[in-house]
Amino acid sequence: MKKVVLTGIREMEMISAPVPQIANADDVKIKLVSIGVCGSDIHYYSEGKIGTQVVKYPFAVGHECSGTIVEVGSKVTNVKVGDLVVVDPSVHCGHCDQCLSGRPHTCRNNRFLGCPGQLEGCLSEYIVMPSFTCFPVTGKLNPVQAALIEPFTIGVYSVKLAEIKNRQTSVGIFGAGPIGLSILLKLLADEVTNVGMIEPLEYRLEKAKEIGVRYVVNPEKQNVKTEVEKFEELLVDVVFDASGEQAAVTNAVKILKPGGRLVLVGIPPSAEYTFDMDLMRRKELSIVNVRRQNHCVEEAIELVVSGKADVEKMVTHHFPPEKTSTAFDIVEGYKDGAIKAMIDF
Ligand SMILES: [Zn+2]
Ligand SMILES: [Zn+2]
Repeated sequence: MKKVVLTGIREMEMISAPVPQIANADDVKIKLVSIGVCGSDIHYYSEGKIGTQVVKYPFAVGHECSGTIVEVGSKVTNVKVGDLVVVDPSVHCGHCDQCLSGRPHTCRNNRFLGCPGQLEGCLSEYIVMPSFTCFPVTGKLNPVQAALIEPFTIGVYSVKLAEIKNRQTSVGIFGAGPIGLSILLKLLADEVTNVGMIEPLEYRLEKAKEIGVRYVVNPEKQNVKTEVEKFEELLVDVVFDASGEQAAVTNAVKILKPGGRLVLVGIPPSAEYTFDMDLMRRKELSIVNVRRQNHCVEEAIELVVSGKADVEKMVTHHFPPEKTSTAFDIVEGYKDGAIKAMIDF
C-alpha cells in the first residue's frame, strides 16, 4: 500500500509498505479516505519533535482522518464493513487510574495515532485500530467533515472546560487557525456571540469574520487591550489561547476581567510561558490547560450533522497523497491563504 513517511527534517517520501493486519478480535481495518494536516504534524515535520516526543525515521504522522471499514475482527459490534467512520486517534488502555476515573485522554498508557513511539500515523492507504475508536457516520457526514471532527473536538472540549455561564459571556480567542476557529464554531453553536478574534494574519481574520466573530484585532497593527476595550469596556470573561505564543498569553492576562479564566490550548514552541503574576493575582485569574479532548466526539458529530457547526469552512486546500510535502509546506509557511489542508487518499 501507499504510505507517506517522514525521513528527516522537512523530508518525506511516499513508500510502498505492507498492509497492516487485524491482530485482535476487536480490531478493524480502515481504508483511509480523508486526512487533515494538523499543526502538530507540522512540528514533527519541521523540527522532528514536540517537546520530549522525538521522531525515529522513517515515521508516518497524521491523526485527523476518516475512512471506510474494510474488515472487522470477530468481536466487533459497533461498526460493519462499508461504514464511513470518524476515527478517534486516541487509544487508551481502559484499566489505569486515569481511564478508571473518566480521563482516558490522559491515560498512563495512551497510544495516539501519528505520535512518535506510540502508533504509526494515518498517512497511508490502510490502518488497523481498535473498534472503539470508530464512530459510524455513513449518510450523516461526508468524508471531509468526518476527518474534521478530530480538530473540532478540541474546540468543543476547550469550550466545555471554560465553563461559560451564559450567552452574554464575553470571550476573546487568540489564534484563528483550525483550533481557534473550532472554538469559535462551538461558541456560536452555543449562541455565545460576544466573541473577539485576535490574530496577526489578515486572511485568517477574514475567515473568522465570515464564520461570525463580533470583532477582530490585529496585534501587529493594533494595541490589543485598547481595541478590546472599545467593544468590552469591562474587559472579557474568558480567553482561549489557540496560538501558543508568549505575546498572546501576555495580552490575554491584560484583557481578562477580574475573576476571568484563561484557557490554554495552543502548543508553545518552548515548554515555558512567563506570566505577570502581579496582574494575575490582583485579578484572581484562573488558568485551565487543555489536553486534546475527552468524550467530545459524539457531541462534535452531532453539531456538524445538525448544521450548527460548518467545519468545512476551515478547509482551504486539497491534495493527493503524492503532494503531501507541498501540503505541509503551505500549512507551515501560512502560504496561499492556508488554514486546513486535506490529503485525499
Ligand atoms: Zn490535530
Ligand atoms: Zn489508561
